Amino acid sequence: MRIAIVGAGNKSLYLMDIIDKYEFQIISPVVVAVADINNDAPGLVKARERGMFVTNDYNDFFKLDNIDLIIELTGNLDIHNDILSKKNNRTRAIAHTIARLFWEIDHAARRHSKTNQELTETLALYNVLINGLIHEDVVVIGLNHKIIDINDTFLEKLGLTRDEAIGQNCYKITHHQSIPCSGDEHPCPLADVIKTGKSSRATHIHQDQNGNKRHVSISCYPLAEKGVLKGVIEVSKDITKDIEFEKKMMQQEKLVSIGRLSAGVAHEINNPLTTILTSAMLIQEDLEEGTEIHKELAIISNEALRCRKIVKSLLDFARQTKSFKRMDDLNEVINESLVLTRKQARFKDVDLSANLARELPPLAIDRDKIQQTLINLTLNAIEATPPGGKIRLFSHYFKEKNILEIKVSDTGDGILPENLLKIFDPFFTTKKNGTGLGLAITHGIIEQHGGTICAKSTPGKGTDFVVRLPLPQGNDN
Ligand code: ADP
Ligand code: MG
Repeated sequence: MRIAIVGAGNKSLYLMDIIDKYEFQIISPVVVAVADINNDAPGLVKARERGMFVTNDYNDFFKLDNIDLIIELTGNLDIHNDILSKKNNRTRAIAHTIARLFWEIDHAARRHSKTNQELTETLALYNVLINGLIHEDVVVIGLNHKIIDINDTFLEKLGLTRDEAIGQNCYKITHHQSIPCSGDEHPCPLADVIKTGKSSRATHIHQDQNGNKRHVSISCYPLAEKGVLKGVIEVSKDITKDIEFEKKMMQQEKLVSIGRLSAGVAHEINNPLTTILTSAMLIQEDLEEGTEIHKELAIISNEALRCRKIVKSLLDFARQTKSFKRMDDLNEVINESLVLTRKQARFKDVDLSANLARELPPLAIDRDKIQQTLINLTLNAIEATPPGGKIRLFSHYFKEKNILEIKVSDTGDGILPENLLKIFDPFFTTKKNGTGLGLAITHGIIEQHGGTICAKSTPGKGTDFVVRLPLPQGNDN
């Protein structure tokens, strides 16, 4: 569409600019001629520069035969009427009032581009938020349970690409189910949000690839558009570690309070116990051996001795708070504990020996306490192993993980799976004369060294207790 402009003021510049700037889809406007009585009018100057047809008299336009549209920008209705009366039939003419439509186009286009830019910025921010900053799993779900968007963290966990996930049902992707979640174990947070219109939270128990239970906290937030609910944003977080940590803390607190209580009670009991024991022994001395009273006094002193043993364990247990650590060789400590337990092993006809790493990097330990744990573990193993059985103590240095490992392995009775979780609890024992404190003390000592202890057992075959002690960072001996 070829355009001629009458009136070359600032409006004409604006119009030429709009026509230059925008890509018109249906018409292809191009300004070819400009008229103004003033030779210095800005539109005229520009048109001249661009090599367009310029004139001081718009009547010249009627001599041109290739004009499709004349736009009058003078604001003078007489001129407009004059143009209408003189133009040929093929040429159209519009007055400056109608030309304002171009200004409207410009405004709309500017608004559009501003909105576009805001949208791009918002999208970029959204992307940074859900893919960069939030390390939890984020998924946007429509009211029909279909996935609208999903973040990189979640995709990586699921092993899917974004295209594979979007459009799928949420329960299919996260639970491999064909129907939405329901029930107490797996309440559907989306259903809750739809019902209440408010955010909702639920804890689900999922299984990971190795079949381990994972606790997942799921928060669901409503996604509304002009007050109408369109879907939800679901943020899920694996809280298994927090729960485990909490349990550990509780166990630790339990140990500390039992320790304090035990220390107090043990002190109070020790003195009267000694009195009972010595009195029983003294009376016994005055009596003939083999008499009924002599036998009963023997029972009293034996029981008093047993109480003393329990009290001693309680005191050991209570004393586990302070630690004196210095650099030491674990192999040496293991060998010492072997010497101290050899007698019991021989007595029970159990083969006790060690298979130690040739050289271990030195580690800061409380030697007495580590020795106490090794004796505890070895004595337990001896007690659980029938004659002819074997007990081995191993030491190993895992260079990549920077840890030292000690393993006490026996071919004894083993531990029933239902007891495996309880053996570190204070006072848990399966023995007639047990105190149930050995492993609780051991656990506390290993924790004080920043290490871990765990038991693996096959009932009837034997048990492995594995102690792992971390070396300080940067130790690459
Ligand atoms: P106690 O030896 O006084 O019973 P511990 O805390 O040392 O207390 O051990 C708790 C329980 O753990 C034992 O009663 C036993 O049931 C179990 N246990 C510990 N070590 C072994 C082992 N090596 N083999 C089998 N059971 C064990
Ligand atoms: Mg024990």
